[in-house]
Amino acid sequence: MTTNPTLSPHLPFGDRQTAPWYGKDILSVKQFSRADLTYIFEVAHEMREMVARVGTFDLLKGKILTNLFYEPSTRTSSSFTAAMERLGGSVIPINEVHFSSVSKGESLPDTVRTLECYADVIVLRHPEVGASAMAAEYARKPVINAGDGIGEHPTQALLDLFTIVEELGEVDGLTVTLLGDLKYGRTVHSLARLLSLYDVRLQYVSPEILRMPEEIVAELEERGVPQAAHTELDTPLPGSDVLYVTRVQKERFTDLDEYESVRGAFIISPETLSGAKERMIVMHPLPRVGEITMEVDADPRAAYFRQMEYGLYVRMALLAMVLGKA
Ligand code: ASP
Repeated sequence: MTTNPTLSPHLPFGDRQTAPWYGKDILSVKQFSRADLTYIFEVAHEMREMVARVGTFDLLKGKILTNLFYEPSTRTSSSFTAAMERLGGSVIPINEVHFSSVSKGESLPDTVRTLECYADVIVLRHPEVGASAMAAEYARKPVINAGDGIGEHPTQALLDLFTIVEELGEVDGLTVTLLGDLKYGRTVHSLARLLSLYDVRLQYVSPEILRMPEEIVAELEERGVPQAAHTELDTPLPGSDVLYVTRVQKERFTDLDEYESVRGAFIISPETLSGAKERMIVMHPLPRVGEITMEVDADPRAAYFRQMEYGLYVRMALLAMVLGKA
């Protein structure tokens, strides 16, 4: 019997060490081209269909992932676990580093070199910018950055963009409004950079002290992305195709009075959305701590719960890719 390759063009069975992403680290969105994103989203889309069709399948049977988290996480760590297990692999969870030898003073390079003896891929979240890049220098196995302090969160940005593609059909031509803590929010740093590969208009809405870092604004300006900064949502909202809301990152403030002065600066309610387009989406990387009221959840434009689910498919795709199975 012959199989039809068009039914599953990205998921060969058997190792494919020549696959473009085999053995690669995923550290920053800067490493992706538009063609890479198309590829990732095609694989993620197939993962979505496979989960709907069969739930779990043995693409990564026998492979092991280490989830190494030095900072709290609900979605990222559990979706990587679910992704690995839905592909038939297994997980070493180190979500409480204080119960590991880290509490005895073990360095990150040594911890990573230990865990790669037991695992095929390492997912790392760490409070310091650049920690994943440093870990990758020491590790022979692929390292996936699951958030490095206020630096980047590349897998979140990929799932954010995948959400936009699946929900709105395309990215070119969209106006995307990023709102909230644009200074410390790593997800918006990564997302803004990824969006700059497309023909988009970006609007930033934040309190004065939480503006998008100059370095990122300059980077995007060089790429010719139209950007505008606001301190209120009224003007940018009506033209927005995507409203991406973020939490004020309390844990990054050294002065808690400063945090108090900006928390609650923006609260999205059904009244707010009465000024938005009929066809648009509201996104949030979550957790939310009051930026979007629960009454908004029933609005079909509220995409943040669907966004979490898209994260599973993107992470399944990334694991399959770096392990040479897609
Ligand atoms: N969960 C996201 C992150 O880890 C967003 C947030 O914490 O506000 O960056």
